[in-house]
Amino acid sequence: MIPTKQKSKKLTKEEINSFISNLNSIKDEEIIDWLKAVKEHGLDDEETSHLTLAMAKSGTILSWEGLEPTIDKHSSGGIGDKITLLFAPLVAAYGINIPKLSGRGLEISGGTIDKLESISDFNTNLSIDQMKKQIQEIGIAISSTTKDLAPADKKLYAIRDITGTVDSIPLIASSIMSKKFAGGSKNIILDVKTGSGAFLKELSESKKLAYTMVSIGKKLNKNIKALVTDMSQPLGFKIGNGLEIEEVLEVLSGKDIFDLTELVILLAIEAITLINPNPEFNLEEKLRKILLQGSALQKFKEMVKAQKGDLEKGLPKAKHIEVIKSTSSGFIGNIDAYCIGKVVHMLGAGRTKTTDSIDHSVGITLIKKAGEGVRENEPILEIHAKNKEDATKARVMLESSIKIGHNKPAKSKLIHEIVK
Ligand code: URA
Repeated sequence: MIPTKQKSKKLTKEEINSFISNLNSIKDEEIIDWLKAVKEHGLDDEETSHLTLAMAKSGTILSWEGLEPTIDKHSSGGIGDKITLLFAPLVAAYGINIPKLSGRGLEISGGTIDKLESISDFNTNLSIDQMKKQIQEIGIAISSTTKDLAPADKKLYAIRDITGTVDSIPLIASSIMSKKFAGGSKNIILDVKTGSGAFLKELSESKKLAYTMVSIGKKLNKNIKALVTDMSQPLGFKIGNGLEIEEVLEVLSGKDIFDLTELVILLAIEAITLINPNPEFNLEEKLRKILLQGSALQKFKEMVKAQKGDLEKGLPKAKHIEVIKSTSSGFIGNIDAYCIGKVVHMLGAGRTKTTDSIDHSVGITLIKKAGEGVRENEPILEIHAKNKEDATKARVMLESSIKIGHNKPAKSKLIHEIVK
């Protein structure tokens, strides 16, 4: 029943379909052997697209008929990555519907649903019918992924997680793309992160993942592009659930924060041109205005209201805030995303098991970013903690993550590749 994956033997569509449709009756040990063989020998793009489709078809495939064109976005996850919360209101205010199913954070990587739940009473559990109604009315809805979206991927992922078989490009690509396929949008934009805070840290691996996902998407008849973008440093200045919503509102109220606005506008241009390859000549300028001059903010507020959230009640605030000051004068070196992610996780913003609860108030606010000049004793970041003890732990962990040097460091590249 379980197809053997050997080096020179290509799996057929029928073998893959039969494996996935019988997944619940196959012994875990056999599944583990199969996953290990795939990790070792790989799958080509054709096998990967058969696996993607089989996993997508193990559950419901959504349809947004009557609401098209719709766009779906996916990020491979990172530190301070609040881009979906800027992208969705931006494209919706531009006029493209965005029914977005998002996940929670795991380990050091944040999740859009956790961030939204920092807003008092915000409902992240819409039914698909509620999403459709909301899209009809305001063009935007962000809700939790449902149980019956690619359930075979959920089963395989849980096994991969405990057997060291997560980091296989065809397994990651088919896992992400099965959920995107089941999500039902014809147009998909992917943000594949690379660097210390990303899932894949090596640029060559991130590029390989991006090319594989675009190739599968095209085989499955989707309009798809992927950007490979930097995650060696956190995105923006604020990291932690409530803090990130605060920063989203700052940008939507007109604060032009370089890496956030640059990335969200580029993603929106690439997404819009998937749908309309010849858009207006001043698209970038138009999007910048929508993002920074109120229309996207209006859309975000419409979504919060439709999903019963209440921004008037304020965002959760940490009980204990401590400032870290520079011990010398010079330039801030690279601020390591992985280390910041670990600290924010330790403070309570993230979970290790899916059932852990989290604290929406804690996190880090950077006051300076890489390349900025700093004088001795000037504040460089704030720790937002539950208590003094956690803040002290964070201080110790942060010591190695921020270096002050005499020379201004070279600016790191934000966009590494656009895969079409
Ligand atoms: N995200 C997913 O959804 N699946 C993977 O395999 C890895 C990251």
